[in-house]
Amino acid sequence: MSEQKNTYRSIFLWGDKKIRPLEEGVRALVKEQFGLTEADLDQKYLYSDDEVKLDIAPALSEKQLNELQTICGNENVKTDDYNRALHAHGYFFGELLKLRKESIETPPDVVVYPKDEQEIVQLLAFAEKEKLAITPVGGRSSVTRGVETPQGGISLDLSENLNRILEVNEINHTVTVEPGIMGPVLEKHLNKMGYTCGHFPQSFEYSTVGGWVAARGAGQASTGYGKIEDMVLAMHVVTPVGIIQTKDYPASAEAWDLNKTFIGSEGCLGIITQVTLKIRPYRPKNTASASFIFKDFETATLMMRKAMQSEIGVPHLFRISDPVETETAFRINGFVNSMSDKFLKTLGYKNNSRCLMFVSIEGDKNYTLLVKKRMKKLAKKHHGFYIGGSPTKKWLKQRYESAYMRDPLMDAGIMTDTVETAVPWDKLIPLWKAVRTYLESREKSYVMVHISHVYENGANLYFTFLSPMKKGDEVEDYRVYHQGLIDTIHENGGSLSHHHGIGRALAPWMENEMGSTAMGLMQAVKDHLDPKGILNPGNTLGLRSKI
Ligand SMILES: Cc1cc2nc3c(=O)[nH]c(=O)nc-3n(C[C@H](O)[C@H](O)[C@H](O)COP(=O)(O)OP(=O)(O)OC[C@H]3O[C@@H](n4cnc5c(N)ncnc54)[C@H](O)[C@@H]3O)c2cc1C
Repeated sequence: MSEQKNTYRSIFLWGDKKIRPLEEGVRALVKEQFGLTEADLDQKYLYSDDEVKLDIAPALSEKQLNELQTICGNENVKTDDYNRALHAHGYFFGELLKLRKESIETPPDVVVYPKDEQEIVQLLAFAEKEKLAITPVGGRSSVTRGVETPQGGISLDLSENLNRILEVNEINHTVTVEPGIMGPVLEKHLNKMGYTCGHFPQSFEYSTVGGWVAARGAGQASTGYGKIEDMVLAMHVVTPVGIIQTKDYPASAEAWDLNKTFIGSEGCLGIITQVTLKIRPYRPKNTASASFIFKDFETATLMMRKAMQSEIGVPHLFRISDPVETETAFRINGFVNSMSDKFLKTLGYKNNSRCLMFVSIEGDKNYTLLVKKRMKKLAKKHHGFYIGGSPTKKWLKQRYESAYMRDPLMDAGIMTDTVETAVPWDKLIPLWKAVRTYLESREKSYVMVHISHVYENGANLYFTFLSPMKKGDEVEDYRVYHQGLIDTIHENGGSLSHHHGIGRALAPWMENEMGSTAMGLMQAVKDHLDPKGILNPGNTLGLRSKI
């Protein structure tokens, strides 16, 4: 079902803006867990299909608008309500709630779509002169309040005009792109030439290279290809005090790594205008897939750790669902009570304890087959039952679709959110248990957990939680629940984020997490590159800004 244009709803719906009705299995599960009826599920809670109308007019003079138009061209400067509302939010759950309540408190005054680096240089000079905030955005898929505009000002949209592939260097195995290019455009181009970028976040179809780098993300195949910080070789960053260009050396000992200063800088230090990424050969026919069932989460995790530490080859996709997530997948896919299910139970793979593991290995044919064989051997040693390659392939196929479940669940009044962390191996199981216990302490909650990015020294944990919203008090209720969740992760030795970044949502924990000396260093870098404090102000990353 396609949704109407120019409504609040058309802003917060994910991706292609088409609602996928909840699958029967999901409906049954939600009804059972939360004691809901069919009518409850079909309600249109905080549906928000009104046309966007903002109460706040752009706080810009005609002269200021004229200057912006002179820099970028009339057609690339927008002050209409819809475009300003569109650029006021990302996809943080609290933001979605506010949009559903048709409450846009601090939209940008103007949205501009620069066409090249020189225009960005001029825009930063203009923003400094006029003391205006300037917030870069790519796909606006931030889930950490990274693209909000609490100080209004300029939303600098890089996705419209700065989205070209500048060079594919087949000798060096690199691609150089402008920041606003979206995942599928880049990947399609590379695939045609026999390469892949290897970065596939769940938001792949609607996020940009600039956003991947600025928010320090990870894709589903990161165990093999690495996080985005492992892929960046060089970049251009336009700052208010000048342009910084790093070079595409394969390695360097020229003091500290400046790329790393800007990877994860979330628009606070400069505008990323060009990125050179590593590319790899694209050989999908060689991909080897394997799926296993383990008797419990602890044993599955142990096998995963051994695999990462034994130098037997590294899978690209490596993933374990905890018992609740496993049972949910089995139930939704009609596996529960099938012949295979009964057979597995007789072998001791009991429901509410067993765990699914997905593995896929890319690369040279002999390599992928060898690693798969070794994974099977190691899994067997840990009583992992091999169930073939199909479940992994099936999961990969529907990977981007599951993001669409959140909209119909929210329409039914159900809080649906995800939070992730990175944790060393020795703290992983205690953290998993502690966070689970916290999330389940809420009356009527349903919590699924998986590991999806794996390292020699630890892994991430990704929590998905569902719970009926507290009607009338949704925003504050969520804020308190989310705060307790991040506190629990922090107290149990997990990072504030593994791949979503910090934004404003996690900024309040930064000082405690980093320590005052480290925060002072980050602030000093910010103050040097952005002395007037115009870049993504309003506590992003926990940094102070002067405007
Ligand atoms: C359904 C869903 C699934 C997701 N799954 C994943 C996942 O699997 N892995 C993952 O890593 N993330 C995931 N995310 C989070 C988000 O998609 C990532 O953070 C992504 O990298 C953001 O890219 P973007 O182009 O949308 O950036 P935006 O959201 O537009 O911006 C993100 C941040 O980067 C800054 N920024 C953007 N472009 C530039 C630039 N050129 N120069 C300087 N700063 C810039 C912005 O100011 C902002 O602070 C998911 C989000 C959603 C909604």
